Order: sequence, then structure tokens, then C-alpha cells
Amino acid sequence: MEKIAVFPGSFDPITIGHTDIITRALPLFDKIVVAIGKNSQKKYLFSLEERLQFIQEVFEEQPRVTVAAYEGLTITFCQQIKANYLLRGVRSAPDFEFERNIAQLNQTLAPDIETVLFICRPQYSHISSTIVREIIIHKGNVKSFVPKPVLTLLQSR
Ligand code: ADP
Repeated sequence: MEKIAVFPGSFDPITIGHTDIITRALPLFDKIVVAIGKNSQKKYLFSLEERLQFIQEVFEEQPRVTVAAYEGLTITFCQQIKANYLLRGVRSAPDFEFERNIAQLNQTLAPDIETVLFICRPQYSHISSTIVREIIIHKGNVKSFVPKPVLTLLQSR
């Protein structure tokens, strides 16, 4: 059976921390679906179309990485696309506590879906989409934190 992993998140915007996790996880899976969860209560800096396009462009030469948007429970989306693995990144102890809770809840709801946690590389542990958004809002330079397609869009604005 094909090993399909879903990497869920907001990716507002995708950072080099996220791309590193995806690249490192690729040897473990046949396919990775980067899945943007739609939450109508949340306010985003980048539109869904922009966030989808950033990811598409970053991985345009890697056909085993695709991108999708979904609504509702992440495990329901996994079941719909026949993915048996959920991929998440861990930067810190609070991240671990959070991820463990979600993973254990998901284990109860969908025992067939395994969560795989990747420990972040130390050089990326300070990078978060939240910090990147703050820097963008205050007109700072995010060159060291985001992949090229994000920079290109920012420069064109
Ligand atoms: P969410 O909206 O669920 O917080 P994000 O888009 O911020 O989603 O992140 C998706 C996943 O990527 C999460 O598992 C998060 O811990 C992980 N992640 C975010 N930034 C980094 C980073 N710098 N290094 C490794 N993993 C990261």
C-alpha cells in the first residue's frame, strides 16, 4: 500500500522550518500532501490561494509533494484521501505537549492513522509563521525565514 502522509497546518505563510520538515520526511513516504486547514474563525495574512500557490511553487519539481485545502477534521481529510500518516513538526517542549494531545485524540478517533513527529533542526526552532507575519506587518525583511515564492510576492506588493 502506498504510504501517504498529510502535513496539516495554516502555512500563513510557509517557512523554511516547514519546508525542512517536508524534505526530511520525503524518504519515509511515497507521497506527502501539504494540507491547508480552512478555519472560518481565523484571520489570515495571506489568502488561501496565495498559501496554496507558495507551496505549489516551492515543490513544483517534487511530484511526490502535493498541496490541498480542507475543512473539518484533519483525520476525516486523511481518510478521504487514504492517508495513513499525519506529519507534524516539534520545535519546543510546549509544541511537544500540544502535539502529543492532538496525536492521542486522533489515535482514539482514527486508530489506523499514525502521527509522525519530526524534531525541528536547531537552526529553525525560532522560526514560526506567527513571527514571520509580525515582521511582514512591520515592514521587516523575512528573507532568512521564508522560501522564495513568498519573498517574490512580497516584493511585488
Ligand atoms: P498550525 O496552524 O497548526 O500551528 P503551522 O502552519 O504553524 O500550523 O505549522 C504546521 C506544522 O509545522 C506544525 O506541526 C508546527 O509545529 C510545524 N512547524 C512550524 N514551524 C516549524 C519550524 N520552524 N520547524 C519545524 N516545524 C515547524
